[in-house]
Amino acid sequence: MILARLTLENLAMTYGHGDPVLHDLSLAVADGQLVSLLGPSGSGKTTTLRIIAGLLQQTSGTIKVDDDDISRVPVYKRGLSMVFQSYALFPHLTVFANVAYGLKRQRISKAETTQRVTAMLATTGLNDLAERYPQELSGGQQQRVALARALVVDPRLLLLDEPLSNLDAKLRVSMREEIRRLQLQLHTTTIFVTHDQEECFAISDKVAVLNQGKIEQYAAPEEIYHHPATEFVARFIGFENFLPVNGTVADHAYRVGDQTVRVNVATDGAAKVLTIRPNQIRLVPEGPEVLSGQVTIRTYLGSAYRYTVDSPLGALQIDGPTEAPVAVGAPLHFTLPAEHLLPLEA
Ligand code: ADP
Repeated sequence: MILARLTLENLAMTYGHGDPVLHDLSLAVADGQLVSLLGPSGSGKTTTLRIIAGLLQQTSGTIKVDDDDISRVPVYKRGLSMVFQSYALFPHLTVFANVAYGLKRQRISKAETTQRVTAMLATTGLNDLAERYPQELSGGQQQRVALARALVVDPRLLLLDEPLSNLDAKLRVSMREEIRRLQLQLHTTTIFVTHDQEECFAISDKVAVLNQGKIEQYAAPEEIYHHPATEFVARFIGFENFLPVNGTVADHAYRVGDQTVRVNVATDGAAKVLTIRPNQIRLVPEGPEVLSGQVTIRTYLGSAYRYTVDSPLGALQIDGPTEAPVAVGAPLHFTLPAEHLLPLEA
């Protein structure tokens, strides 16, 4: 078992004469953890991963594995394995030979190679496919071979670049569980790049949310889900309502438009917006202290209806039960539960 700690210190990257695409990016990944880089397309995830791998040279900054500075070490001496979106299997080699490839390059003896490849094929459920060629495999099976090939060399780090994006929805779920199972079994420190929030929350110890080459938040999935640090993170993980704050009214209330909105946490002059998820707004009968608005759009989500509501607080997204649909044009009455309103500073 190889336990490795990854530290990125003040990484910056500029391609050619363009604008910087990474700014002062620092990240510490503990031994044996699976950390995801999550962000929209163009936020710098692949650039960061390729810099860690040594496929790209950063403009400045340091990469360390344990206490070794590998910032200028060539790719093949970094002791890392990478799995790409495309799998990049060798089409003319069998599954067995694909998995054996890295060990052969390291001049490991034939006996040890056979023993390690056989064990890895068993671990990844590929025993029966050892003599097949890549074109005789399904997408999910090819993905397994790519993982087996990456892991058989006992890498210090496993780098995964959107490894599931070519699989259908159902297979994505079972493969992500498979990746997590293998990662926990082998304790391989792993960096997983994805733009899919659900996918990365499901399998990560920690998530770094990237926006325009900067880390907006680095925390456990539960922390990010319940306490997004910024409006960008909140939007990315499903908060839809952002109410601009005009000022504080009392210890536990903000002014939004001409309304007073109560919160559970002590008011803070730095709060700029209040946010709440569509399914956290409570539909109630008309009454005092109850807000009302008119439904302008209704969409069916399967588990709920989502309403766009023209309200005294502006346009809101509100979820309601499928048993009692409200028509477009009809009024909707609701409250904003104080315990779900989250003040954000940026
Ligand atoms: P992500 O993986 O999050 O989609 P990337 O790391 O691929 O983001 O890209 C980050 C930024 O760097 C984008 O603005 C992209 O256009 C730019 N970029 C990526 N690769 C190159 C390249 N080879 N040359 C110039 N710009 C690039």
